[in-house]
Amino acid sequence: MATVGIDLGTTNSVVAALEDGQPWAIPDEDGNLLLPSCVGFGESGQLLVGQTALRQYAAAPDRTVMSIKRQMGTDYTVALNDKDYRPQEISAIVLRALKTRAEETLEEEVTQAVITVPAYFTDAQRQATKEAGEIAGLEVLQILNEPTAAALVFDARSEETETVMVYDLGGGTFDVSIVEITGEVTEVLASHGNNRLGGDDFDRQLQRYLGDRFRQIHDVDVPDDATTQARLRQAAETAKIGLSDNAFVKVREAYLSSKGEEALHLDVELAREDFENLIQPLLKDTLEAIDRALDDADLTTGALDRVILVGGSTRIPLVQRLVESHLPDVPVSSFEPDLCVGLGAALQAGVLSGADVDSILVDVIPHSLGISAMTDTPMGPIPGFFSVIIPRNTVIPVSRSEVYFTAMDNQEKVQIEVFQGENAIARENVPLGEFMVEDLPPKPAHSLQIEVHFDFDINGILTVTATEKGKGQSQSLTVNNAETGRLSSHELTQARESVSSLFENFADHLFEREDGDEDSDDDDSEGEAVDVEVLGPEQ
Ligand code: AMP
Repeated sequence: MATVGIDLGTTNSVVAALEDGQPWAIPDEDGNLLLPSCVGFGESGQLLVGQTALRQYAAAPDRTVMSIKRQMGTDYTVALNDKDYRPQEISAIVLRALKTRAEETLEEEVTQAVITVPAYFTDAQRQATKEAGEIAGLEVLQILNEPTAAALVFDARSEETETVMVYDLGGGTFDVSIVEITGEVTEVLASHGNNRLGGDDFDRQLQRYLGDRFRQIHDVDVPDDATTQARLRQAAETAKIGLSDNAFVKVREAYLSSKGEEALHLDVELAREDFENLIQPLLKDTLEAIDRALDDADLTTGALDRVILVGGSTRIPLVQRLVESHLPDVPVSSFEPDLCVGLGAALQAGVLSGADVDSILVDVIPHSLGISAMTDTPMGPIPGFFSVIIPRNTVIPVSRSEVYFTAMDNQEKVQIEVFQGENAIARENVPLGEFMVEDLPPKPAHSLQIEVHFDFDINGILTVTATEKGKGQSQSLTVNNAETGRLSSHELTQARESVSSLFENFADHLFEREDGDEDSDDDDSEGEAVDVEVLGPEQ
């Protein structure tokens, strides 16, 4: 008989088990770890749970239920197949599907579970969740707070008291909680949120934006019927997810509309920046919630030992950047943001059923990775700055990209110099390699875009690809990190110590430059030709 941990989410749910002290999320037969929290009945009355139910939602919304978690603990009922269902019953169907998935994979009966709920859930909502578990045939060992579950993954039972902020941005809900963990005890100090904010809103914004682009191109609206709009929504979500790893994505949906005999397709390129502009106002609200939670807990930023990012939408680089800059000096950690709560629930289930529990070993990048680039400063652009593309402590594998611009008119080539380290001056870090992107088309300064993509795999191999956006030509370089060696802590200290003097050197140069000619080409202190011809990332 087995015990599992379950994250019963608004959008997706996860079931996880403990093996040799380590939690792991149990996949379905197709390898999917997330089960959409969606229930429905098919045309011939068959029960549909998860992806199959979600797929029919656009065509048959009256036979499909989504986001039932929002109704837990209320008297709401939903009619499906001529029967009224209470929220507990719909949730129980999701739980039952997860129990079956676990039993098939573990090849044993699953009888007990720890199920997670948001920290702000009332007694009635918790009770309804417990009932859902019981209806599904599970003995509910504990109803565990989601932020607590997430925190367990990062610090399985540290002896010291840690104050942790959990920022959870999922598909349909956002919440931020401050928890204090001491040994086995976790206390929720404050919790704030908006149960109507999440990735679904970003999809809707992007859907509208894509609709506008379609109208601009074809002078025709995207048809308003549910099926076409659902396709557009799906395309928006796919594009959104693509933009977490890439600075640009192509969005293609064939036959979205027609003009007379002519079929009209959506075929546009979308920049991450455009998406970021769309969602930035929504994200501002989340930063205000951070401040309110701190206020409620009577804490200042300095009292936080760590911020943990949870929920699929925290994979969006802008979310990470905003949280990091809102809470300077607080380490921000992220590990499998959509699985983390389920994994924590499995750890807790293990503890309650008497298993030995280890902390999770998360493999991270020990040093920041980036390239040498120009950066705009109040005193003008300065070359040779270290533009970080993957910050240290990022969990691997990871792919990230940034866009840079040419610095000069008719620039023919760009040199990409790759470094690892923490020094703001690129050359004070460890060089990993360099390569050229050549034969650039003649363009004015700042108008040619170069996308630099870093891909760091599980074996420590870094592949850097630079692509010129216009012609699409690209060059790449593979660096085997194991061969290059990592920076020792001594080397890192040295690098850090030299920062201040280097800044002084730069200041000297600046003043020389301002007096002298405008060409930045001979700014290099070592006297060799400077080939740094890219500007810093777009602000
Ligand atoms: P959750 O409720 O935690 O399962 O999060 C689901 C939300 O995360 C959905 O809106 C997804 O579209 C979104 N999501 C998942 N992966 C990514 C990604 N790589 N980038 C941006 N959003 C994502």
